[in-house]
Amino acid sequence: MRYLFIVLAFISIGSFYSCSRSNVLIADGRSDYQIFISDSASAPEKYAAEALKHYLYRVTGCRLPVTHRTDPQGKYIYIGFREAPASLIAGIDPSGFEGEEYLVRSDGRHLLIAGGQPRGTLYGVTGYLSDHLGCRWYTKDVEKMPERKYIPLPNRDDRQQPAFEYREAWYHEAYDPEWALHNRLNPSIVPIPDSMGGSFISYPFVHTFYQLVSPEKYFKQHPEYFSEVNGKRVEKDAQLCLTNPAVVKIATETVLDWVKSHPEASIFAIDQNDGYGYCECKNCKALDDAEGSHAGTLLHFVNQVAAAVAEIYPDIKLQTLAYAYTEIPPKTIRPADNITIRLCHYNYCSAHKIGGCPSHKPFIERLEQWRAIAKRITVWDYFTDFNHYLLPFPNFEAVKNDVKFYADHQVKGLFAQGSNMPSEGGSEFSTLRAWVFAQLMWNPEQNGQELIEEFVKAVYGKASPFVSEYIRLLQDQVKPDSVYFSIYADPGEVNYLSPYTLNKADSLFALALQASEKDERLLKRVELAYLPVIYTKLYFFTAGETAYLNKEEAPKVLAWFKRIVNENKITRIAEGTQYGDVEKFIAGAEIQQEFFTDWWMIGPFDNENGKGLVTAFPPENGFDSVKVVKGKNGVALTWKQYHNNTSGYIDLTKIFDPSENVVAYARRAIYADRAENVQFGVGSNDGVRVWVNGRLVLDRQVGRRAQVNDDIITVPLQQGENEILVKVDQLKRGWGFYFTEIK
Ligand SMILES: [Zn+2]
Ligand SMILES: [Zn+2]
Repeated sequence: MRYLFIVLAFISIGSFYSCSRSNVLIADGRSDYQIFISDSASAPEKYAAEALKHYLYRVTGCRLPVTHRTDPQGKYIYIGFREAPASLIAGIDPSGFEGEEYLVRSDGRHLLIAGGQPRGTLYGVTGYLSDHLGCRWYTKDVEKMPERKYIPLPNRDDRQQPAFEYREAWYHEAYDPEWALHNRLNPSIVPIPDSMGGSFISYPFVHTFYQLVSPEKYFKQHPEYFSEVNGKRVEKDAQLCLTNPAVVKIATETVLDWVKSHPEASIFAIDQNDGYGYCECKNCKALDDAEGSHAGTLLHFVNQVAAAVAEIYPDIKLQTLAYAYTEIPPKTIRPADNITIRLCHYNYCSAHKIGGCPSHKPFIERLEQWRAIAKRITVWDYFTDFNHYLLPFPNFEAVKNDVKFYADHQVKGLFAQGSNMPSEGGSEFSTLRAWVFAQLMWNPEQNGQELIEEFVKAVYGKASPFVSEYIRLLQDQVKPDSVYFSIYADPGEVNYLSPYTLNKADSLFALALQASEKDERLLKRVELAYLPVIYTKLYFFTAGETAYLNKEEAPKVLAWFKRIVNENKITRIAEGTQYGDVEKFIAGAEIQQEFFTDWWMIGPFDNENGKGLVTAFPPENGFDSVKVVKGKNGVALTWKQYHNNTSGYIDLTKIFDPSENVVAYARRAIYADRAENVQFGVGSNDGVRVWVNGRLVLDRQVGRRAQVNDDIITVPLQQGENEILVKVDQLKRGWGFYFTEIK
C-alpha cells in the first residue's frame, strides 16, 4: 500500500470556541472529562494517555483523571480503539489503520484519539497536542505550551499518517527519545524504546557485507568468497564475490539468523561496504558488463537471499544500497518485491534544491530509473559539510524543498544525514535542521521557510531578528545559479565566507548577544548559533589569512571558541578522524608560526603519468634568476618573484598556466643568526619535495588537499643564508602549498 499523507481535516488552532457547553473539553481549568485507557491497551497507548494528561495540564492547568472504567453518564477521551463506543468508530475500520496512522474524532460527546499499532495512537496524542493545541517541542530546552482557557471538542475528523514510513535526521538533538517522539521521527541509529512506541529499525544499520560473510572467519580458507581486485582476492576494505554460490549460501544463513534474533528490526540490510573494491573476477565482471552496472551482481546476489528469506518469512523486508558504484540500475535484473532500494544522493550542489540547478540531473534520472523497476525506494541524503560540521552551510533551499520532492516521487523513507554521531555534539544550526526535517518528514506539504522562521522566532526570542538576518545574509549569496558548493566544501572555495560577510555576521551576532544578555539560557543558544562564524574566522587565521582575525585578537577568540565547544560537548567537527577532532583544530590554532609567502617561482614542468615529482628538472641544479630553461611543451621559463601578504596559501593554479599534469618550484632564502635546528610545517596539494641547502628533507608522493602543517620537519640551518627549494606536483583541480616556520 502506498504511504500517502492524508489529512481529512485540520482543526485550525485558533478556531473559535463555541459556547455550547456540550462540546467543551476544558473550560477555565475545569473539565467533566476523564482520559480512558483500556486495561488491555499496549504500553505505548498507556504512555500516550499519561502524556496527554501531562500536557493538557500544562496547557490548561486542568488535570484530567486517567481511568480504566466508564459509566454511561461520564464523558471520556478514549485513547486507542479498545473499548471505544460504537458512536466514535462509526464508519471506520480500526484494523485498517497503518502502524503510524491515527484518527482524532469526536461524536459530540466523547473524544477519540486512536491509531494503528504500534505508534498510531501515540502519534495521535502528539498530533492532537501540536496540530490542535499548538504545542511545540523545538529543542530539548525550548518548548511552546500555549496557555488555553477553553478547549473545544473538534468538530471534524483529523486522520493522518506520515509521508514516509521511515524518518531519521542525523543530528545530535534528534536522538533524544522524547524529542524524537514529540516530533514524530522514528530513528534507527538510536531507537526509541518500545514502551514509547519504538522505531523503524534497520538491522544492521548499513554497510553489512563483512557482517554477512566475515573475512576473519572465511578469508584464509576461502579467499574466493571475497572481491578480486586487480587480479588479487582482497581481505580488507573491499566487497564480496557476489556470483559465488557459497557466498549466497552463507549470507542467506546470516540473514535468517538476524531475522530470528532481531524481532525489533523493521528491515534487514544487505549492503555493500563503504568505498569501492567491487569484485572483478571473471563471473562478476561478465555479469556487470552485461548489465551495464555493478548493481547487476549486487541484485543478482540480493535477489537470491531475498527469495530464500521470503520462503520462510514472506513479510520480512530487506534493503540494499544504490550507492557509489551501484547507483546506476542494471539493464535487465529487477529487485525482488521484498527488497527496498536505498538510493543515495551525493556529489551534488548544496546551494540549490533538487531540480534547482543542473547538478542534480543525473540523480533525478537515476531515481526515475529505479522507480520504474523497484517496488520500494528510500533515500539517503546528505545535508551537511562533511569536512566542516561547524562551517556555515547555507543549503536551506535543499532543507526546505527536497523532502517534498522525495514525497512527490513516492519515496518511502528518508535518512537526512546531518552532522555528527549522536554522541559527538551538535553542529551548525543542528537543532533548527533537526526540527525542520522532522516536521517536513511527517508532512512535506508544510512551508519550509515558514518552519525555519517559526523555529528562529521561538528559539532565539529577542535575538531572532538578528539571527534571521544572518541566515538571509548567507542565503542571498548562494541563490545565483552560478553558485556551487558541495557536501565537502572548504571555507576557501565557497562564495559566502568573504571577510565582508564575516564582518557583517559579527555585527549581527553582536546585536543578537546584546539582545539576549539578560536571559542566560537564550544567551547560550545564541552563542551556539554564533559558533560557526567564529570557527570560520579561526580556520582562516590558522591558514595564514590575515583579513579575518589578527594575532592580537586571536587568543581571546580562541578562548571563546573553546568555552562554547566545551559547554556543548562538541568533540567531532568533521567526518574523518584526520581533521575531525576538535582538539586538533584548537591545537592548530594555538601554534605560533610564521607563514612564508614570498618566493621565487618557476614552472610549469611536465607531470605526465605522475612522474614529475621524481624527475629532476633544471631548477634542481641551482638557482639562477635570469637563466632561461625549457618547461612543459618546450615553453621558455625564468624565475619570477611572487609575493602575497594576505594569505598563507600559495595557490599555484593562480600563478601557472597550464595547471594540470604539471609540477612547479618555489625558492627562497632565509637567514639564521647562528647555526640551529628549526621546525618547518609543510602542507601541499598534492605531492611535495623540499630541499634545504641542496639536501632533500621532505619527500611526500601523495594525493591530498593542502592543510597547514600536513608535515612537520626539523631541519638544521647554517649561520647566515639558507636556501629552501619546494617542488609541488599536480594532477587535477587544487594545486598549492603552505610553508611555515613553527616558533
Ligand atoms: Zn566475483
Ligand atoms: Zn546548484
